[in-house]
Amino acid sequence: MDEKNKLYDLIIIGAGPAGLSASIYASRYKLENLIIGSEIGGQVVEAAEIENYAGFNSISGRDLMKKFQEQTGNLGAKIIQAEAEKMEKINDIFEISIGTEKKYKAKSVILALGMNPRKMNIPGEEEFIGKGVSYCATCDAMFFTNKTVAVIGGGDSAAVAAIHLSDFADKIYLIHRGRMRFKPALAEQIEQNGKIEIVGSTGIKEIKGDQKVENIVYESEKGKKEISVQGVFVEIGAVPKIAITKDLGIKVDEQEYIIVNQAQETNIENVYAAGDVTTGSNKFRQIITAVAEGAVAAGSAYKQLKTHNFPPKTDQPRVG
Ligand code: NDP
Repeated sequence: MDEKNKLYDLIIIGAGPAGLSASIYASRYKLENLIIGSEIGGQVVEAAEIENYAGFNSISGRDLMKKFQEQTGNLGAKIIQAEAEKMEKINDIFEISIGTEKKYKAKSVILALGMNPRKMNIPGEEEFIGKGVSYCATCDAMFFTNKTVAVIGGGDSAAVAAIHLSDFADKIYLIHRGRMRFKPALAEQIEQNGKIEIVGSTGIKEIKGDQKVENIVYESEKGKKEISVQGVFVEIGAVPKIAITKDLGIKVDEQEYIIVNQAQETNIENVYAAGDVTTGSNKFRQIITAVAEGAVAAGSAYKQLKTHNFPPKTDQPRVG
């Protein structure tokens, strides 16, 4: 059957830990599943070192996700590397579009959409993306070898970015507003790092430059200040990536996380959600919780397909 008319049991949107784990479970339930994701591995591939995923003392995000991807492939799932742009429900069948031409159909969907980096929305930020402004220290640190950079943020992401950048840049200003909330182990590393200087602010105001970033302007208790930098790394958290869910009316909470119950079900029948994008797991937003939510979502999809008119090819789940 050609791809256009094929009806999958399950389409998983998102190829991070939640999506890939959902696929592993779905394949073992014999659900014919397709993964559509713009970045295989999701945000995790940006992590230089992961030391809190059970089973690995230390592994890079890229290597861990490679293992996930291999396992999904070995179990027979297909991955399409592309951005799913639209999702419709027509006669109980979900149609997921990539661009204007390609549509994929499924009986159920798992939304493992992940997060987008939060933006400061200040003058110069958008203009200098790729010209000194970055949202990924792991990806871009080497371009700032022997340079001076600012890292914005007072959370663990900012701390990790600053520490990573200190392997490349000569000087890192870690500019936070409000309270710093670094984990003690990270705060200790920053304290001992001779290249990182913590700068307190009451707000970041502007990124200035001609062709590239030249200065960062922030507000302090003593008024406006400006520091000369060649790079600005924005590490101020993330926001759920929910654009594709709007047409279907998937319910989100006040912070725009997709509302799920313990079965990872959304308010729309046969649509599940898993990973950082959901209200699940107490919003802990860890790889291990995303993986668990993906497994639960696949299990729920299987149960639902089995009890309704969409039977998978076997009655016997091989999971467990
Ligand atoms: P957080 O939400 O923890 O911190 C965001 C930081 O950005 C806060 O200091 C916040 O300041 C600041 N901020 C928000 N908006 C702006 C703005 N417009 N201008 C300037 N500053 C701003 O996000 P993280 O990404 O750091 O962490 C998310 C989660 O991931 C946490 O649970 C964290 O522990 C975890 N994590 C763990 C790591 C590890 O263990 N190695 C590594 C990275 C993340 P304010 O308080 O003023 O809003």
